[in-house]
Amino acid sequence: MTIDNCRDLTLKMSMNKAGRRLTSQRLAILNYLRGVTTHPTCEMIYKELKDEMPKLSLATVYRNVKYLADNNLVLQIKGDDGKTHFDGNTTAHLHLICKQCKKIYDIWTKKIPAFNGIKEVAEIDNIDCTIYGTCYKCKN
Ligand SMILES: [Zn+2]
Ligand SMILES: [Zn+2]
Repeated sequence: MTIDNCRDLTLKMSMNKAGRRLTSQRLAILNYLRGVTTHPTCEMIYKELKDEMPKLSLATVYRNVKYLADNNLVLQIKGDDGKTHFDGNTTAHLHLICKQCKKIYDIWTKKIPAFNGIKEVAEIDNIDCTIYGTCYKCKN
């Protein structure tokens, strides 16, 4: 699935007239998101990448991340802090958001829950399921 996504992105980028600079920024953002499990916001991505990419601006991060999300290359998660967070791992998994520290945890399950009635209404593209709780780090 990851390789297919990658190929897909390369294909889409080769058709993109925006040029090489935008292309490499987009790839750098995608690689960054695939390498972390922190579910960063655009601001966090910008802060992490700006040193190695001096030409990067927050607006560029927003634009590129939107492109990646629109093309299902990254997941969007509505954080409990009111901000949109991003996940480079598009393999189906669930998220748990701690109500106290606002951290977004990945929850892996062998079986993504099947919900009755969905198939009668629509075909599923992806499941975005968020569970809220208090993590044990905050509880202790
Ligand atoms: Zn917590
Ligand atoms: Zn995740």
